[in-house]
Amino acid sequence: MRKPVIAGNWKMNKTIEESRTLVYELSGGLKNIKGVEKIIFPPFISLLPAAALLQGTDIGLGAQNLHWEDKGAFTGEVSARMIAEFCQYVIIGHSERRAFFGETDEMVNRKVFSAIKNKLIPVVCIGETLKEKESGQTGTVIVRQLTQGFKGLNCDQFSSVIIAYEPVWAIGTGMASSGENANDVIQKVVRQTLINLFDQETALATRILYGGSVTSTNAPEFFAYADIDGALVGGASLIADDFIKITLACIR
Ligand code: PEP
Repeated sequence: MRKPVIAGNWKMNKTIEESRTLVYELSGGLKNIKGVEKIIFPPFISLLPAAALLQGTDIGLGAQNLHWEDKGAFTGEVSARMIAEFCQYVIIGHSERRAFFGETDEMVNRKVFSAIKNKLIPVVCIGETLKEKESGQTGTVIVRQLTQGFKGLNCDQFSSVIIAYEPVWAIGTGMASSGENANDVIQKVVRQTLINLFDQETALATRILYGGSVTSTNAPEFFAYADIDGALVGGASLIADDFIKITLACIR
């Protein structure tokens, strides 16, 4: 019922030329993989060249961030309105933005509204830090991120949103969560909170991904669980072969 999603967050990696090479390799390798929504998130400067190369493919393109205003005196920022000219998706609230750039739940909320207004599909990241996990706060943190991040949205506005559950302790550390733990949090906390915030039908239709040190080796473990609808992949999305293998593992 929910179409699986494999999304590659390239973070601050790849020059334009390197991006072109990776897009080229990915388009060849992903071409025949059907039934999975495939998305890449290159750095801003590579979006336009990537968009040109992706024409005629079924690989989606997204930005890693946005500003919630459509335009104005916000030096260095890029708005949803600009991104929407050539992208279909945008990552919002990645833990690196929350940790290094002071992104709050309120800012996430503004960005979600702006993305939806501009017809971009938001991939909203949530997840607890190691300290929060160790002090038993995983549930509280996630409920807060979801409640405040989606504040004021109705079911219809929310319906396109994709959520990525990314425990911060698992991102870029090589210490992935177990499939069982990820599925448990997604099913019992994330989806349950969506039922409370919206309704059962909306919650059951929402794609919820796992993210955090996903590799071509451990990917099948996550996709074996019914509540994990795919992955947001960082490091392994920079190597075409690995990203293609992860996508193959996600076919249901
Ligand atoms: C990410 O950046 O969202 C991520 C999950 O990174 P990695 O796969 O490298 O842990």
